Amino acid sequence: MSARTFDGRAVAAAVLADVRAEVEAMEVAPQLVFVRASDDPAGASYVRSKGKRAGTAGVRHETRVVPEDATNDDLQAVLQDLNDDPDVDGILVQLPLYLHLDADAALRAIAPEKDVDALHPVNVGRLWRGRAAWAPATPAGLLRILDHYEVPLEGREVVVVGRSDLVGKPAAALFLGRNATVTVAHSRTRDLAAVTRRADVLVAAAGVPGMITPEHVQAGAVVLDVGQAPVDGVLRGDVAPDVARVAGALTPTPGGTGPMTVAMVVANTVRAARARRGTA
Ligand code: NAP
Repeated sequence: MSARTFDGRAVAAAVLADVRAEVEAMEVAPQLVFVRASDDPAGASYVRSKGKRAGTAGVRHETRVVPEDATNDDLQAVLQDLNDDPDVDGILVQLPLYLHLDADAALRAIAPEKDVDALHPVNVGRLWRGRAAWAPATPAGLLRILDHYEVPLEGREVVVVGRSDLVGKPAAALFLGRNATVTVAHSRTRDLAAVTRRADVLVAAAGVPGMITPEHVQAGAVVLDVGQAPVDGVLRGDVAPDVARVAGALTPTPGGTGPMTVAMVVANTVRAARARRGTA
């Protein structure tokens, strides 16, 4: 038997359609500003695709390009300017930054109420305390796709492979918030396959193409593939194709968790706008 496909493109389109309806009912469309301080082509491509989807949902967006000779103070000044602008609802600093720029300081400089990536320490704290108004886009997209396909989480075993601030840790916080029993595995985990086989829901977010093989997966498990890395010019996930023989359902790469991330950034911008305007 082959696993069911969880179609991230279709769920993302549904999220964006909901957002569009919400935006149309608002007096002033929310505005999202991307800050780019890097010549990384992948970062540029992510910004383009988030901007395109924002447009689809009726969210205004623009990109501030910070030049390569900018200092940390210059970047902080750009962010302060955006924090102070009442017409800006969301700010997203696309990582990575030029090597001489301090990414942590930049994330801390965003006003928490405009931090649509939810990476400011205040928002990280709110997430772990279960009091976040929105969550980092990639993990939020995982929950949304599971909800769409009505996958129960309460009391179930969730294993997250990867412990980054961007994906693994916030995913763990969100699954805990849904009363799952959560295990976070990483590069020092012993006997990874024994750990991942416990999972009813397995999240692969290591960035190592094909590392999750059938021996890592319990029969019938739901497998969410977050990893994305180019192999010979083709985007590959962490999950090997033959996992489809064992899993109950899985997200494809491309077309799985990636489109969900983009849609959730746009959804977060609307949440931030409503919260700041007092219409949440
Ligand atoms: P990251 O910061 O490099 O973190 C990778 C994590 O995976 C680390 O915690 C690392 O463990 C762990 N890891 C690496 N190799 C491992 C192995 N062999 N076994 C077990 N754990 C291992 O990366 P990230 O930012 O979280 O991103 C992870 C992947 O998701 C990347 O491919 C990225 O491109 C992709 N991504 C996709 C989306 C999307 O929308 N689909 C969004 C964001 C990121 P240690 O902590 O021990 O080093």
